[in-house]
Amino acid sequence: MGFIMKKLTFLLLIAIALPCQAQQMVGRVEISSPDEIISLRESGFSIYHDELEGVVDLVVTEADIDLLEEMGYPLSDLVPLPGGGFLDLDPEYHTYEEFSDELQQIASLYPDLTRLDSIGHATQFPRTIWSMKISDNAATEEDELALFYIGIHHACEAVGGETLLYMMNHLLENYGIDPEITSWLDNYEIFFIPLLNPDGHFAVTSGINEFWRKNARDINNNGIYYEFTGGTWWTDDHEGVDLNRNYNWYWELGGSNYIWDHDYRGTEPFSEDETQAMEVLAREQRFVCGITFHSYGEVIIYPWLFNGQPAPDQDVLDVMAIEMAQCFIKDNGSPYDYEDYNGRNGQCRNWFYGFGGALAFCVELNPYPMFLPPGSQLQERTQRYYEGAKYLLERLDGPGITGHVKDAVTGLPLAARVEIQGRISEQVRSRFTEPEYGRFTRLLNYGTYTVFAGKPGYQTVRIENVMVSGGNMTELVIELSPITLDVAEQTRSNETQKPEIRIDRTSGSLVHFTLELPQRSHIKIELFNVSGRNLGTIYEGIKEAGWPKVHYNAAHLASGMYFYKITAEGLERGGNFVDAGKMLLLK
Ligand SMILES: [Zn+2]
Repeated sequence: MGFIMKKLTFLLLIAIALPCQAQQMVGRVEISSPDEIISLRESGFSIYHDELEGVVDLVVTEADIDLLEEMGYPLSDLVPLPGGGFLDLDPEYHTYEEFSDELQQIASLYPDLTRLDSIGHATQFPRTIWSMKISDNAATEEDELALFYIGIHHACEAVGGETLLYMMNHLLENYGIDPEITSWLDNYEIFFIPLLNPDGHFAVTSGINEFWRKNARDINNNGIYYEFTGGTWWTDDHEGVDLNRNYNWYWELGGSNYIWDHDYRGTEPFSEDETQAMEVLAREQRFVCGITFHSYGEVIIYPWLFNGQPAPDQDVLDVMAIEMAQCFIKDNGSPYDYEDYNGRNGQCRNWFYGFGGALAFCVELNPYPMFLPPGSQLQERTQRYYEGAKYLLERLDGPGITGHVKDAVTGLPLAARVEIQGRISEQVRSRFTEPEYGRFTRLLNYGTYTVFAGKPGYQTVRIENVMVSGGNMTELVIELSPITLDVAEQTRSNETQKPEIRIDRTSGSLVHFTLELPQRSHIKIELFNVSGRNLGTIYEGIKEAGWPKVHYNAAHLASGMYFYKITAEGLERGGNFVDAGKMLLLK
């Protein structure tokens, strides 16, 4: 009852504020650069959806049509604004409580095949963020490939979460019956995070605002939640952070810096508890691939165009996106569209690929301009979307390379860097094995590859002509031999005066050293190969106290492990110092 009163009050307020409000519509304009989104917004237009390449959808009235035309943005696809903004959501949609109940029911029905974990809580209220792992022996961390499915980063894009509930139930009900599903659960660890944004989702399911997108962070800390700026309440949530702009991946280049914008990115990367929960899970699980569900557009968006440059795995990503698009079927019966889009912003898919090494796809479910289809359509839609989502499970079988890295002496698994020649880029973080089993996995197209594995203290291994063919994964066992060298022995006469040396990064052939010098010193840096042979002097000269840099072009050297030796003679307080370290050169 109080609830209905609240809604009536809201409607009344709007009626007073906007007595002659013309009918609102959604329309689409074409843009050639994301900057135009900002200028449209600054011109006073309300963004309805701007996730797709080359277009922006706006909320407009009759009066805006001519104005936009004059500005060079003719509107197309005009339709009445769906819903009323304060719609009672159809009961087929799950509330947070119903999500929680159903997940717990699933976990108790299938105790061996599921592990339900809280991976954290929403930023503003203590609503649990659930992760459901589905696998045989789910309680155990087995040596199996892991993949993820995430729903509801954006509160009003609830169909993704509903699809994942359907998918979990379907996989579990058919384990032991359907041989394909049985083999997926036996061989993979499938992680579902169906409701990443429970606080924002509450605004949608409780009738506060059908179009709420962000989380519920009370930015102005006034104890009032889900505030609107007024007038343009369908997108301009006055509070909350856009979780899909909050990942630590070129965060400062994506989303908006203004709290009232629908894509406000937060005060810093991973400022929100929801995205932090994802980060922790990703670091633990080393996902091979995954899907994050959004709405709308019937399109698969994937990494990446990065300043116009393709991703190091672009060939694989392209083929997977094309194949996946055939499995997601539009309302009109044709396959989904696909686009590789801006890789430089703090979106989930970009962070997962660039930082986490997972081939991550954003799937925008539902046709234009549908965030929330009628509840009566949910059953048909979630079944249809499952047919697309299961593509990743089919793809994990291969083609690709998987295997283990071990210590050649002890046979124990190693946390090592494993790279594939031609797929190393400054844009992406190095790829490492999972430490418990030493497992690495790369999905690839058919072809012949060169694989490197390295770890400080071990000789780098290079395996050429690794064939990826047929439908399966090529399996490798890589053994790394430990090395000990005289140059690694250090003389330390006076710790406090000792210079430190650090390798900042190697990019292509360029190696950047940063020294930390407690005093002005005469410096000599020499390079050795793994057999201890002196390859020459990288630098000799006088450097001031502080953090001077030395750059070295290693173009003439093959990829692999090297040692450097630094000799320093203190010119202010005296002392002679020698230190040594390892340098992994991967080109
Ligand atoms: Zn979204």
